[in-house]
Amino acid sequence: MPLSEFDIIQHCFASRTHQHRDVKRGIGDDAAVMAVPIDHDLVVAVDTLVEGVHFPVDTPARYIAWKALAVNLSDLAAMGAEPAWFTLALTMPKADEAWLNDFADGLFELADQYQMQLAGGDTTRGPLTVTIQIAGYVPTDKAMTRDGAKPGDVICVTNTLGDAAAGLSLLQHSARQTEASEYLIARLHQPIPRVATGRALRDTATACIDISDGLLADLGHILTASGVGARLQLDKLPLSAQLCRAVDNKQDQWRLALTGGDDYELCCCLPAEVLPHLTQIADRIGDRITPIGVIEAAAGIRLYDQETPCDLTGEQQGYRHFE
Ligand code: ADP
Ligand code: MG
Repeated sequence: MPLSEFDIIQHCFASRTHQHRDVKRGIGDDAAVMAVPIDHDLVVAVDTLVEGVHFPVDTPARYIAWKALAVNLSDLAAMGAEPAWFTLALTMPKADEAWLNDFADGLFELADQYQMQLAGGDTTRGPLTVTIQIAGYVPTDKAMTRDGAKPGDVICVTNTLGDAAAGLSLLQHSARQTEASEYLIARLHQPIPRVATGRALRDTATACIDISDGLLADLGHILTASGVGARLQLDKLPLSAQLCRAVDNKQDQWRLALTGGDDYELCCCLPAEVLPHLTQIADRIGDRITPIGVIEAAAGIRLYDQETPCDLTGEQQGYRHFE
């Protein structure tokens, strides 16, 4: 028997969500009702994943759900916010019970790590599209933004770059499965939002962004918003051992790290003196923070390999949807 819309909402979503103390009314009414803790600001983000654009056709449902929530969590991480609840607008061509259960498994596997509540949503028929709106909190006026980077700040990134882009390329070329390719493809399907590190950066970072469209594009947003430029050390870009195994050419490794999408690592700017302390905190969380360059007054991004200026022409753009 086909699932009714009510069954889907009840069995796949309402009955499975964690309850969050700030959600006064969740799924079941015309709208959800939330409280915002005193002395905090509400931080809200929304992101849509479209089949064939943001994930390949036939991606397993649990990965689609994981990623839809992870990219939103990553936006909260970049603001230094504490996640609280989310809503889900799900458009799908048909209501397949096994697919929906797999989708809910991926969704709640990640949501439960943050004790988030699914507080409402919308369910419609159409081409597979997943929109999640997320909300969290920061202490009043403590949200990180893109516009505070100052000349002399150290530019840092979390963990390693380029893995997801390498994973996508491996998927598309249906390459032989190796341990390295499995790791890289997992980095594409199940990005890990850097929420705890984002929170740790909140008090000292002058600017922060999550890297979704490639380092150059996203660092570029910080530079534009802050009215500054940057010197980047290609030789310092953090690369995973798996990426280096799958891609043997240094130039190609750098290209993936600079312009590959879907990293969902954080890029932040810090006064140099706080770096050792933050590196320690991140270490305790399980994230590595790597300094990769410095903010300069002159606009633009200057790439260096050690002391040699590099011109990787054509590398200045990340993924753009309408070009
Ligand atoms: P309305 O017609 O008032 O918009 P719906 O019938 O669309 O209400 O939804 C009924 C309830 O189920 C609402 O509380 C809504 O937020 C929730 N809901 C609908 N779809 C989803 C979904 N995909 N995930 C979570 N909650 C949902
Ligand atoms: Mg209604």
